Amino acid sequence: MSNLKDLIGDSVELVFVSDRKRSIERAITHLYPLSRHCCCMWHVEKNLIQRHFNASSIFLFKQAATTYRVEEFERLMGQIRRVSERCYRYLEKASFSFWSRALFVGDRYNIMTNNNAESLNSMLRHARSLPITFLVEHIRKTMQKWFYERRTNATTCSTILSSRMENELQTTFEAGTRLRAHELTNSLTQVGISNDTEIVDFSDNTCTCHEFQLNRMPCAHATRGATLSGKSLYNLCSPYYTSEYWRGAYIEVIYPVTREVDWVVPNEILGTHILPPIVRRPPGRPPHDVSELDTSPLPK
Ligand SMILES: [Zn+2]
Repeated sequence: MSNLKDLIGDSVELVFVSDRKRSIERAITHLYPLSRHCCCMWHVEKNLIQRHFNASSIFLFKQAATTYRVEEFERLMGQIRRVSERCYRYLEKASFSFWSRALFVGDRYNIMTNNNAESLNSMLRHARSLPITFLVEHIRKTMQKWFYERRTNATTCSTILSSRMENELQTTFEAGTRLRAHELTNSLTQVGISNDTEIVDFSDNTCTCHEFQLNRMPCAHATRGATLSGKSLYNLCSPYYTSEYWRGAYIEVIYPVTREVDWVVPNEILGTHILPPIVRRPPGRPPHDVSELDTSPLPK
């Protein structure tokens, strides 16, 4: 986590989505005091299933976790409490703002990101038992392949947003065409009918439905309002959704490790004593005797 900090720093815009492991929590609090931390909804759902909460409370949890509105969240939590007080207590202990989209302070967006972590986990499952140099080479080789494939996909994408977000924007836009809208001021537009009306504010890109500001993608009301006043929909989307950012993520080339004779190793590395990593000892096994380890510097 501290190496990651050297690369990305700490900021209020940074959000960690974790599986609530204590070690992760500690590292984030210590190293990234400005960042925000929430947990993966899918992970909480898995915990609810493991704890045998009934199907209707799990169904209600999914709705409560993903709703954008605080009032709707509170209504659903009331229902969960009626269905299972035990489930309600469990979710309360996990802290509502930690898993609820409506209550979380920070940008969660609306993209499932734990697939990356899961893919890495499954890729490393068997490789973990390899000696460390083979493990590192296995990771390097896999990353090289993954980066190449993703870079190729991103480079062939000719739309402004990435393919997936372009489709999403199209679907939202079509839903918006069915709505009625009229402008209130230069920046405010009212969208909807009678008691189902939302107000879009283009001065800070928000909507009373909360989807616009939480997803950083226009909601149906915002697409309708933007069309009415001739605003570009793309200017309302977070740059993170653009194909340019997608390409940027995979721009670095991962090279193979060349022949050892060609290595240029800096002096400070040559003089470093490298010890094996600290690992958890299996029960019953004596601790390593450090004096037995080969701690001599690497050969020149
Ligand atoms: Zn809206």
